[in-house]
Amino acid sequence: MHKFITLYSDVIDRVLVESKKNNVLVRFDFSEQTKICDELYGSSGYFESESKCLSIAIDEKFTAEEILETFIHESCHMDQWSGDKFLWDMCQTGYDYFLKWLEKKVELQPHEINECIQNIIRLEQDCEQRSCTKIAKWNLPLNYDDYSKKSASYILSYYEMGKRRQWLRGSQKIEVYSKAPLINNIDLTKGVPVLLQQMFDEHLYAPTIINN
Ligand SMILES: [Zn+2]
Repeated sequence: MHKFITLYSDVIDRVLVESKKNNVLVRFDFSEQTKICDELYGSSGYFESESKCLSIAIDEKFTAEEILETFIHESCHMDQWSGDKFLWDMCQTGYDYFLKWLEKKVELQPHEINECIQNIIRLEQDCEQRSCTKIAKWNLPLNYDDYSKKSASYILSYYEMGKRRQWLRGSQKIEVYSKAPLINNIDLTKGVPVLLQQMFDEHLYAPTIINN
């Protein structure tokens, strides 16, 4: 059994109470990646409102704390969906189009791509703020500043994906996220800070497709 399950059973129970209230299925996928059926790339976790499923990849390549971060993040997407349907629905459309555009299933105009990214950032920023609040309120053993910077690095990497038209990984490397601002300090009018952009140029990469 992965240490995440034994170490954080109380956190899992708390999220399960919420998921039951919302009729959401929580699924642990014992694999390096979990993915929604027609998705090209898997991820370490997702929450999907259509199928009402919160799924987390659990594998020895992740530490218990890394899985906990993903679990908290995705649980906050569930909180958004159950608590703020307007924001969820508005931003989700942007997300769907952007992902389809990345996979070259649709074409979008530059201003539409930008609008999608702004919607994604709005949704992820709200999610990460909820996550940071949950970490503090539940007294979770995660470094608040590190988590906040990792989140900001991930959110801002969407600008780069928009530029390269590719799904990109690497925003969670310490060399990269250490140059990111705290989540509350992201300035959407200014885009990616210069030092972080240098790290994006050096470290972000397009993953190979893993079919699992
Ligand atoms: Zn997210």
